[in-house]
Amino acid sequence: MPTNDTGPTNDPGSLIRELQEALGASNVLHEPEDLVVYEYDATIERSLPDVVVFPATAEDVAAAVRLAVKYDLPVVPRGSGTGLSGGAVPIKGGILIVMTRMNRILEIDADNRVAVVQPGVINLHLQNALAEYGLLYAPDPSSQRVCTIGGNIANNSGGPHTLAHGSTVNHILGLEVVLPDGRIVRLGGRVPDAPGVDLRGLFVGSEGTLGIVTEATLRLVRQAPATRTLLAIFDSVAAASEAVSTVIRRGVIPVAMEMLDQEIIRIVEPRIHAGYPLDAGAVLLIEVEGVPDGVAADSAVVEQACRDTGAREVRSADEAEERERLWEGRKAAIGAIGGAAPAFYLLDGVVPRTKLPEVMTQVLELCREYGFACGNVFHAGDGNLHPNIMFDPTIPGATERVLELGGAIMRACVDAGGSVTGEHGIGLEKRSYMEWVFSEADLDAQRSVREAFGPADRFNPCKVLPGGHGCASGHASEVMQHLGAGSYV
Ligand SMILES: Cc1cc2nc3c(=O)[nH]c(=O)nc-3n(C[C@H](O)[C@H](O)[C@H](O)COP(=O)(O)OP(=O)(O)OC[C@H]3O[C@@H](n4cnc5c(N)ncnc54)[C@H](O)[C@@H]3O)c2cc1C
Repeated sequence: MPTNDTGPTNDPGSLIRELQEALGASNVLHEPEDLVVYEYDATIERSLPDVVVFPATAEDVAAAVRLAVKYDLPVVPRGSGTGLSGGAVPIKGGILIVMTRMNRILEIDADNRVAVVQPGVINLHLQNALAEYGLLYAPDPSSQRVCTIGGNIANNSGGPHTLAHGSTVNHILGLEVVLPDGRIVRLGGRVPDAPGVDLRGLFVGSEGTLGIVTEATLRLVRQAPATRTLLAIFDSVAAASEAVSTVIRRGVIPVAMEMLDQEIIRIVEPRIHAGYPLDAGAVLLIEVEGVPDGVAADSAVVEQACRDTGAREVRSADEAEERERLWEGRKAAIGAIGGAAPAFYLLDGVVPRTKLPEVMTQVLELCREYGFACGNVFHAGDGNLHPNIMFDPTIPGATERVLELGGAIMRACVDAGGSVTGEHGIGLEKRSYMEWVFSEADLDAQRSVREAFGPADRFNPCKVLPGGHGCASGHASEVMQHLGAGSYV
């Protein structure tokens, strides 16, 4: 078993034996060729775990956590590894607990609009199971074909349809959680207003630093009787950005308002054939739902707002097949960039939506200044930006400059009254930016909460908060030192 600076202090062979006894030999990986598969998520940083385990029950998770305490090792929870901030990267080694075997939907209570699931359930599998009841679990990250409900909870994930329904935290009623000392506890409950301190709310978005989710009770919503998808076509990102706040100012909150700029349209359209015009400066994909008369009235308001802010055309789709085709382009966009550039860095920032025109102009200027192509596809209604900076990591210095550009874009978001993440979490990637958003007293309060659950270096060490024993700062230059030139994002 490989060890690192912070690896096991006792005989590593005993740890493996004890894990195998507790979880079954086939659920413990420790050979180097197996461990390399788990050294990264969807970001730049990578680091090997000492051992990887696949629990089947909360008791298995608790047993692995107790062994981590005994051998003084860090614990890192992992779902599907689609995270975009390095949250599942075991930066100090230790036991990586992969939750994908716990993938059962335990209950769908259609009458009370509640589902109980294990954390390894894939988001889209749950949506498919709910469809036959006419129900929906609202948070729908664009990675929903792969990502897990546990990862969604840890990152408080959003998605195109969280504009009207709210992000993950608004849809979690209760959690079963294994704490850093191995105790199994329940937070929240099955009814909306559980008594006592709201530890459920505290836990959602804690990025695997407070414990491991082993079961979740979810709030469901009814599928709307009518849905219309509109494609508004603009000559510029600035005009499309203006349309976003105009629609909401006129009193309509669509369920989704997604923007794709020209760079992205030119990458996506030839591959996906979603019907986006290649000469558009930007398109807005807007979805309105409700009862049929309400949908018609709201769509009219949306269409007029788009035309008043410069839309040259607004197309409308009512049939499921037509709507799916329009959405396919949005959902496949990030994957399509992978086929169009040697590497790309996907950023996540958020600004008040009225600041979108100004900040988007700044983002495009910064990319030009640094000399990189940049495609934007994002949850515009939430003011949640996702610039994708394309580059060739084999060019000396390119990765370092891309990371610097990322920092400059995040700074622009903060200066506009926004923040350094809209939905992807802080993880390793953004911890050095936390000081831009919070005072030292704010950060101390967050550290105290973390330490109330367990020692800060036990669960997901070096994540979210800056500092920490033996943790790098996370600044671009240090990341490059750790990774070496030629690394890619
Ligand atoms: C193409 C693409 C599109 C994306 N689109 C979106 C989007 O629209 N919206 C969005 O919000 N995100 C998006 N993401 C980011 C990512 O998919 C989400 O953050 C997702 O919730 C991560 O789930 P996962 O199962 O892959 O978790 P991982 O990446 O495995 O882990 C993420 C974090 O959760 C923790 N964790 C995982 N399971 C548990 C558990 N059971 N208990 C406690 N902690 C746990 C990990 O320690 C880590 O900190 C996208 C990513 C990609 C690659």
